[in-house]
Amino acid sequence: MNLKLTELGQRKGEPLPFRTTLDPIELKHRHQEIRGLSPVEVNGEAVKLGDLYYVKGEMKAEVDYACARCLKRFRSQVSIPFSETFAPADADVELDEDAEIHLVEDDEIELAPVLQEDFLLAIPAFPLCADDCRGLCPTCGVNRNEETCSCKNERIDPRLAGLADFFKDS
Ligand SMILES: [Zn+2]
Ligand SMILES: [Zn+2]
Repeated sequence: MNLKLTELGQRKGEPLPFRTTLDPIELKHRHQEIRGLSPVEVNGEAVKLGDLYYVKGEMKAEVDYACARCLKRFRSQVSIPFSETFAPADADVELDEDAEIHLVEDDEIELAPVLQEDFLLAIPAFPLCADDCRGLCPTCGVNRNEETCSCKNERIDPRLAGLADFFKDS
């Protein structure tokens, strides 16, 4: 979806609401933790204030992940806020180094590429089915959220093994 700068300019500071969707197929290919994805519903508004154009809103989707600890598939409702600033490439605005302003070459703001980046940045690199997911047993492989096993899994640093023996004997 594109927003026309001239149209926003004519609204004299009155925000323009918009709705659009992002194609899930491309997004899914661009992030390895996304195992499945619904179309991304975007709800937002755009406004011109001074020489700058502000676009903000929220993206909603259902994402399927595989838990990074127990490998189980789970679905999560995500709701990702966004807020972006645009300026015409030929505008005489003082660009603050730190302020992230997207320059617009033509008369149109291309929303999809910017929103895709925002969406992908909000996807976790280590999705967890629950914050306290207990993961798989490293010895027998059972899902420790569902079963308990009798494996010991004591982790002793080999360099300290001698020390452990020392305390056992004393
Ligand atoms: Zn898990
Ligand atoms: Zn085990």
